[in-house]
Amino acid sequence: MLDIAESAHAADLGLTWDNAFERLGGQFYTRLPPVPLHGQPYWVARSAAMACELGLADDWWQALGVLQAVSGNRPLVGSTPLASVYSGHQFGAWAGQLGDGRAILLGEVRTPAAGTQELQIKGSGLTPYSRMGDGRAVLRSSIREFLCSEAMHALGVPTTRALCVTGSDEPVRRERMETAAVVTRVAPSFIRFGHFEHFSHGGQHDALRTLADFVIARFYPQCRDAANPYAALLAEVTRRTAALIAQWQAVGFMHGVMNTDNMSILGLTIDYGPFQFMDGFDPAHICNHSDHQGRYAYERQPQIGHWNLFALGQALLPLIGQSDQALAALQAYPGLFAAELDQRMALKLGLPRASAGSRPLVQQLLALLARERTDWTIFWRRLARQVAGDTQQPVRELFHDRAAMDHLLLQYQELLTHANKAQTADLMLKHNPSLVLRNHLAEQAIALAQQKDFSMVQALHEALQRPFDEQPGHADWCNFPPDWASQIQISCSS
Ligand code: AMP
Ligand code: MG
Repeated sequence: MLDIAESAHAADLGLTWDNAFERLGGQFYTRLPPVPLHGQPYWVARSAAMACELGLADDWWQALGVLQAVSGNRPLVGSTPLASVYSGHQFGAWAGQLGDGRAILLGEVRTPAAGTQELQIKGSGLTPYSRMGDGRAVLRSSIREFLCSEAMHALGVPTTRALCVTGSDEPVRRERMETAAVVTRVAPSFIRFGHFEHFSHGGQHDALRTLADFVIARFYPQCRDAANPYAALLAEVTRRTAALIAQWQAVGFMHGVMNTDNMSILGLTIDYGPFQFMDGFDPAHICNHSDHQGRYAYERQPQIGHWNLFALGQALLPLIGQSDQALAALQAYPGLFAAELDQRMALKLGLPRASAGSRPLVQQLLALLARERTDWTIFWRRLARQVAGDTQQPVRELFHDRAAMDHLLLQYQELLTHANKAQTADLMLKHNPSLVLRNHLAEQAIALAQQKDFSMVQALHEALQRPFDEQPGHADWCNFPPDWASQIQISCSS
């Protein structure tokens, strides 16, 4: 609780805070306030859509103390800030204790339509889990996280959300000097596979059970009545993770750091770092400059998802009891993933369901795209527009080997013989975005933001909220990346 001197200074945002995670007990976290940013923080980006979902008034941003509070510069009335502890496997090796090294959970709020949502500020200073880090996040990575989490949401991919970014002139050392920023993130829970690994590997099985029971009660209540609730939990997380990664593959998203501490127990995309959307299709593409082995290359994401689930299964074993039950849950992954990916690719082709005809066509298409390094987003969007009757930019012109493409287009036409053309086109335009957050777009917005011009961050944010619409005002954003885009290097350090 805040003392009187502090509460006089504290911001009252008119939110009713709770913090169920805090009630789990002291072994799960350290209570501490955020470390204020030096100087006067300023707004960089705000998501009106997210604010609306949280039930905040339109003018909430202007309220006294809001800017200071989400920057970590003022305590919040009713909030119980804490940093949680977790562990994890990083790049395939056990990393031991990690934790919220630069994030503070402010608490949770009840929303009008989206249930209970936790608010977390990232970049909010040192915690007991900061290890070698400085507890800060730079403006560049904060803008990337804000834009991409909101873009993924609009694409229909499960993800943590972002409410806002605030910036400051506080210098932060990375490869070069940058400035500090804070992102306010929103999710039903920020619990990761690594939270379970922490208590399992540390032999704290009572805490492990407390955590699992909490997650089941709140997020997987259907598991409670299963013969083995913990095996049922593993099976459900397996299902959600398979579905999530199938969606990543279909939209061409690469996470870049799929360590087990970056895997959400709710199957959400979490911890946006060196992520990238595929430009020219290269299944072996590695988006993280620090990933020398290509462990997290595009084509390896599905099997890494499975590997990470094994780490979770191992952690849950003391609760599940029987290894065959854990294995049964985990062995469902390849089938679940393949079925979900099949379905996603069928939708990209405008087919309501995958079929014996769609699967080989998809395989041949992917092989041709890979051979020619065809732009992933542009290929699918042009195909959709062509099916919708737009003949301006024929898909075949994207290829050197036009004969190969013509052959596949014929096969495709045969598949569509009995389909309703309008329905097919409609499905395609709803599953093949015109706009994704390509690295070079984020880079341009960041370069301006570093000069305190936030107009492109805002414009990109707005356009990315409607990724399936044509973007007449921003045709260049939907076009091929410039040559310099392939030189962009994004690493773990952010
Ligand atoms: P990541 O792989 O970026 O999600 O980070 C792995 C771990 O390092 C997490 O426990 C983070 O909280 C921590 N971490 C990353 N960057 C920093 C930083 N600048 N200061 C403190 N901790 C950090
Ligand atoms: Mg992380």
